[in-house]
Amino acid sequence: MHHKEILKHYGIRAQKSLGQNFLVNDEILEAIADSIDITGQDILEIGPGYGALTEKILARKPRSLTLVELDKQMVYILNSRIHEREIVIPKETTFRIIEGDVLQYVPPLTLSPSEEREIYSVIANIPYYITSPILFRFLHELESKPNEMVILMQKEVGDKICRKKWYPHSYLSLALEFSCESIEEVCLVAKENFIPAPKIDSSVLYFQRRAEYNRINAKDFLRITSAWFSAPRKKVISNLASTLHISKESLASDFQALGLLDTVRAEEINLITWNKIIEKIEKKWEL
Ligand code: SAM
Repeated sequence: MHHKEILKHYGIRAQKSLGQNFLVNDEILEAIADSIDITGQDILEIGPGYGALTEKILARKPRSLTLVELDKQMVYILNSRIHEREIVIPKETTFRIIEGDVLQYVPPLTLSPSEEREIYSVIANIPYYITSPILFRFLHELESKPNEMVILMQKEVGDKICRKKWYPHSYLSLALEFSCESIEEVCLVAKENFIPAPKIDSSVLYFQRRAEYNRINAKDFLRITSAWFSAPRKKVISNLASTLHISKESLASDFQALGLLDTVRAEEINLITWNKIIEKIEKKWEL
């Protein structure tokens, strides 16, 4: 069945509150599925809807595929489509559907029992409003983080993460640069490729996580950068002094040693300089 027929056949009415915009362009769905290694791998798909991307993933025979979908009706439709063999699960794939909120979902430390290391990938066409929470959860918070993620998001957010069009650094772009080895744009998706069409275009981004992740460094990094970006117009030194309870004099000399003016703005500072600042001032703040 083609996308429009599926929507009609199952009487699907997109729920705005769940960010349901179904991607109906098969070439783009194939390009998303081609952007990560699927064959023989453990895959987590977030927000499968009626299974448009799921079919492309299954055609590539993953070792396991876990779907997490919040909408009960979509879970019912997915199960019906599997029952009708419209969605075919290859014999080499362990398949499961979890009905629930992905922001509450905790992937097991190993999705495949034979592996000692956590190795899995995330693939998702998710509602725009949970893009940042998902990125923070999967690339910073969870104990069991994926190796790679491919995510469809609002084009402007993708541009900000990739810092296209001279977008300055943001808390999100720095946090992702901190946790990822590489971030690439897979493709752009014009709004006409969705039913219903959203008001804005999208882009698909690929994230490869850094293999080493130091929890303490990450905690310090996120704490300081988020504090600074929450009041980016304030003078940097005053801001850090009041948030971290460090004397302004001590901060001023650290900044001077790094060749930074105390008038510098948060968005002008790159990841390397942030790490240097944190290295200089850590151990000085009161927790
Ligand atoms: N992947 C499908 C596609 O490409 O056509 C559907 C995409 S639609 C933009 C987003 C999907 O995410 C919907 O099926 C929606 O019900 C689901 N969803 C929304 N919030 C969710 C959440 N917190 N956890 C899991 N799924 C969610």
